[in-house]
Amino acid sequence: MPKNAEIIACGSELLTPQRTDTNSLAITDQLNLLGVEVIQKVVVGDDRERLADAIRGALKRAEIVVICGGLGPTEDDVTREAAAAALNRRLVLSLEQESILIARFRQINRPMAKNNLRQAYLIEGAEAMPNPHGSAPGQFVSTERGALALLPGPPRELKPMLENELVPRLRPVLPPQEICVRTFRITGIGESDLDALIAPVYGKYTNPVTTVLSAPGDLFVHLRARADTRAQAEALLREVGNPIAELLGDRVYSTDANESLEMVVARMLRQKRATVASAESCTGGLLAARLTETPGSSHTFLGGFVTYSEVQKREVLGIPGDLLAKHSAVSEPVAAAMAEAVRKRAGSTYALSTTGYAGPDGGTHFDPVGTVYIGVATPDGTRVTRVRYTPDRWRVRTLAAQSALDLLRREMLKSSR
Ligand code: ATP
Repeated sequence: MPKNAEIIACGSELLTPQRTDTNSLAITDQLNLLGVEVIQKVVVGDDRERLADAIRGALKRAEIVVICGGLGPTEDDVTREAAAAALNRRLVLSLEQESILIARFRQINRPMAKNNLRQAYLIEGAEAMPNPHGSAPGQFVSTERGALALLPGPPRELKPMLENELVPRLRPVLPPQEICVRTFRITGIGESDLDALIAPVYGKYTNPVTTVLSAPGDLFVHLRARADTRAQAEALLREVGNPIAELLGDRVYSTDANESLEMVVARMLRQKRATVASAESCTGGLLAARLTETPGSSHTFLGGFVTYSEVQKREVLGIPGDLLAKHSAVSEPVAAAMAEAVRKRAGSTYALSTTGYAGPDGGTHFDPVGTVYIGVATPDGTRVTRVRYTPDRWRVRTLAAQSALDLLRREMLKSSR
């Protein structure tokens, strides 16, 4: 049976906007590597009763409980007392820890305050975990179901103790575990539509654990399977991941968690030995910025124009004045003409264009704020897509750049079929 963990970060300062609990991320990382899933984490202020309550709850839910912070020498450092109370055990003065503390203070040539002796108390049955970077030792307690650990709050003390002391003590307590992950990066679908599409598949499984993360126009589906062996974990990923992949089809632009859409576009352009150029209006250079984001872009991106005004569209790109007058700058024919013009001028294989109403002002009855025409000129002709986003300037511009990249990706997919 896989084991679960709960993390409790203790410290009133972590409940203020000035301090963030980052220790739990480092702890989660190490626990995950051991095949342990973190099922809940909480931040509790320096209050003994509340902390003891949180520890009691955690011990009921999870086999492994890791508490960080509150091991200092002062009255508001209550973790030792709270953990002892939750476990129904006493705190016992450890003579060994006392002499380590005395030696430590002697070494730094400072008198030891009486309070510091609090740090020499261990929970009955606990093993001390040495802290070479601070005065408070960590504590490791074997429990009926698993283990409870106390770690110091300062990250520079916690991290080495976590890796060098806690992980080696946890490993023998845990069944052999393998964790395998599979990621899909998706665009061209909203978060709720995506979830409605794939939840019937993943909803039946608690292993793998499926998470959907979203940024504007950019979604991640993350599957994490754990099993006794790698082969079993991979089989679980296939069982859930393959039907998801089928449902998502070419909306999946990458299965590498670290590969952004612009990286995929750059990779595909390189593979085809193809190039791209851009003519932007409402995205104001965002598209060119993304097309140059990846190292080596000079092999694939020839150049871009930001032609914001009609005069610039006429003079820089050579868009005929009567086309602009007849259809307006935000229109399908102008988007097509912009893409074709820049493709010709740059001599690129592909070209992208954007023209739209980012708002808050502007727009027409037929093309309200949020409407963008995106053109893709290719060796086989030019296509224009009309998109309509929620009228929020930042979103319109970000999503239009994302859609333009995706349209180019889809054109390249088509031509390689
Ligand atoms: P000390 O022996 O230094 O008193 P401690 O175990 O009592 O250690 P705390 O007093 O709770 O630790 O925290 C010391 C400092 O460590 C905090 O001021 C904060 O900067 C940092 N810290 C504590 N908990 C966390 C956390 N969960 N994430 C990130 N930083 C933390």
